[in-house]
Amino acid sequence: MTAPEGAISRRGVCLVVAAPSGAGKSSVSRALLAAEPELSLSVSATTRAPRPGEADGVHYHFRDAAGFQAMVDAGEMLEHAEVFGRRYGTPRAPVEAALAAGRDVLFDIDWQGHLQLRERLPGDVEGVFLLPPGMAELERRLRARGQDPEPEIARRMAAARGEISRWTDFGHVLVNRDFDETVAEVRAILRAARTRRERQPWLAGFVAGLLGDGGG
Ligand code: 5GP
Repeated sequence: MTAPEGAISRRGVCLVVAAPSGAGKSSVSRALLAAEPELSLSVSATTRAPRPGEADGVHYHFRDAAGFQAMVDAGEMLEHAEVFGRRYGTPRAPVEAALAAGRDVLFDIDWQGHLQLRERLPGDVEGVFLLPPGMAELERRLRARGQDPEPEIARRMAAARGEISRWTDFGHVLVNRDFDETVAEVRAILRAARTRRERQPWLAGFVAGLLGDGGG
């Protein structure tokens, strides 16, 4: 069932996919974005340095400490948090525009961001947490990425334990054993979320029309 012509059929879904570094979150996010034309990625701001291959405005909005703080002070961040000693935050305007236009937004943010988002946008957020199949596998994936120096990997392994302990914050939890299966599961969560009654305000009028017609 679709909305009457000209009406916005539904409010967009805030899909938060969270996981410890190395649990396969980036690959899952890429596959979701490729498969779901109505889904776009929220590009965060961060004070961390770009990794090789990362472009400003595409992977992150890279800011120095003062630039990041200016965005916070101006109320431009929907949420922000410190992760691995660096600051990360979600610019507010693109998210609000997308949701109002009925487009879904994918968030690659940590558990702190997820909690803040749920507070700021009650009813809009679907949280999915990806667990790694094992800690050895997690470390193997972190190393295979080959982008972080050794002390950074040790730091991220320690942080992963803390991140995993937040699994109960999330409404949906998946063990990422099989990539294709995980992507299919998250797509199913997104599809189901789109049909929530609260996301389809036009339905009240539609149903009133149905009943007013005498029910045929
Ligand atoms: P990375 O530096 O590896 O790109 O990201 C490190 C961590 O910061 C990841 O867990 C990622 O999900 C999180 N992160 C990235 N952007 C944001 C954001 O805008 N807000 C919050 N709270 N966390 C973020």
